[in-house]
Amino acid sequence: MRRRTRKQWYQYHLAKAQEDARDVITSVYSQEIERIRGVQEQAWKAFTKARENEPVKSKLLAFFGPESQYRIEILTPLKSDLAVADRALSDALERQRQRLEEATRQGTENYLEAREQRRQETEARDQRVAQREYERRLRYLEVSPAIRSAARPLKEHIIKQQSEDGLSVTCFYCHIVISAGASHLEHKRPISRGGTNSRANLVLSCAPCNLRKARKTHEEFIRELGGGAP
Ligand SMILES: [Zn+2]
Repeated sequence: MRRRTRKQWYQYHLAKAQEDARDVITSVYSQEIERIRGVQEQAWKAFTKARENEPVKSKLLAFFGPESQYRIEILTPLKSDLAVADRALSDALERQRQRLEEATRQGTENYLEAREQRRQETEARDQRVAQREYERRLRYLEVSPAIRSAARPLKEHIIKQQSEDGLSVTCFYCHIVISAGASHLEHKRPISRGGTNSRANLVLSCAPCNLRKARKTHEEFIRELGGGAP
């Protein structure tokens, strides 16, 4: 089979969904229409036969004016039966036509809904995959032996976690708000004293706090800050 483009696939599946919806209606209505068509056929046969069998006397009479008994009692009632049957058939066909149109719309709606749901599922799955990839990368960075270069993407991560727009963050120690660009990635336990890039060991601080803390551990620095407080 020829390769289909995306658009062709879309049209193909859409047409299929519409057809499925129409098939349901067709099968529901076909029996009823078959029955009504049968009635109409009988009425038509009866009327045609009665017209064929009309006596010459009756035809002549009608030609010159008054309706014959044959016309009044036989032909006219059969003709009106036929008209009723014709009407019933065309009504039924019209109902079916409307239902089919509705079914086409419904089929379109069903298809678009299913398609949207598939799209959302795919998107959600892609997001989960991306999230897992991201998490895997962070875990790798946390234990990477290239401890200095791994720190940068980890800092980006922590900034993203702290601030929606990634523009401003809060110093972990003095709580002032600083621009993300000016913040320092702070190891609570300094690398020089065995600290790692583990996310539990990383915070953001302002430059003065970071410089003041220097090689102290987080606990030592907090103690110093507390002691220095008025
Ligand atoms: Zn600070």
